[in-house]
Amino acid sequence: MRGVLGTALVAVVVWACTTATPVEAVTTPEANETALAGLEPPAPPSLERPAFAPLSISSDPLSRDTSLQPAPALRPFENLPTAALTLTPECHGAFVQGGLVVCRTLPGAEVGNGGALLTTADARGLVVIGFDRDAPATETLVFSSGGEEASVALTIAARTFREQSVSGLPPQTVTPDEAAQARIARDREHIDRGYASQASVEGFLDGFIWPVEGRISASWGARRIANGVPQRPHYGIDLAVPTGTPIRAPASGVVTLAQPDLLREGGLVMIDHGQGLITLYLHMSRLDVVEGQSVAQGDILGAVGATGRATGPHLCWRMKWRDRFLDPSVAMLGLANARNGLSRVL
Ligand SMILES: [Zn+2]
Repeated sequence: MRGVLGTALVAVVVWACTTATPVEAVTTPEANETALAGLEPPAPPSLERPAFAPLSISSDPLSRDTSLQPAPALRPFENLPTAALTLTPECHGAFVQGGLVVCRTLPGAEVGNGGALLTTADARGLVVIGFDRDAPATETLVFSSGGEEASVALTIAARTFREQSVSGLPPQTVTPDEAAQARIARDREHIDRGYASQASVEGFLDGFIWPVEGRISASWGARRIANGVPQRPHYGIDLAVPTGTPIRAPASGVVTLAQPDLLREGGLVMIDHGQGLITLYLHMSRLDVVEGQSVAQGDILGAVGATGRATGPHLCWRMKWRDRFLDPSVAMLGLANARNGLSRVL
């Protein structure tokens, strides 16, 4: 059963840029309306016209089972002659809060926002752009290379997030004491090391698979109130599966952190999929990988557990791009769209 289907749908839009007009909105309200209307998988991209291929998902992940929501089928790369590269990017993905897009621009092009450097395109001109939970309706990015600049405005669909109140937690878990704070600070150094990775890999083109399949027990982006104290939003998607369930790499990448015993995260593995896209696996009972190891899609990273601050066995799956937390369930649809949309230009 899909459960509650009366909830608002989130639009996941594929867009292909064909013009070089400065500061152009890449999705429009009309485009999002179109996206809301359909449930079909993405249409094949067209060389002649921008394609708005609709894909919809429920904004309430609690109402669905991951096994019912496979990512769209991937088309093989087409090996067509490489399209002429332009600084003005062609972007495909999920233009929605918590989503991401992959753009093709010039190799090594820099991407900035309000004067700050956000990211740099790889040797093939590929660049990932993520949108966080509170992303504005429009993000204007400046692509620059060799003294040239191209400005594009990305239109990002808004979502609504639920609020979760939890009471009766041990006070220590809400307000850590001094010893716990010191340990959390040490753990933080490990995690920062995991985030600092800049692997030259393109796992973001693999099309992600679910690391485990099961019921989603806590949705991404929910604001948590613990013992009446507002916490930061929940930046994971919790998949309730038994301890010992194997966790698979959703895409290829490099293991940047493999720590068995962090205070809050428990057993934690982090994977760099390239272009700043990093995934995290929390509360693991067993780690089967080591730091620096390369993994392929489907490789077993370890097993689900309830280590660290967890109330029961589950996988808390997280995804981050640069300093922005992403919703893995939305981002994986965006990555499939991106892979399909860009298949003709790679
Ligand atoms: Zn979680």
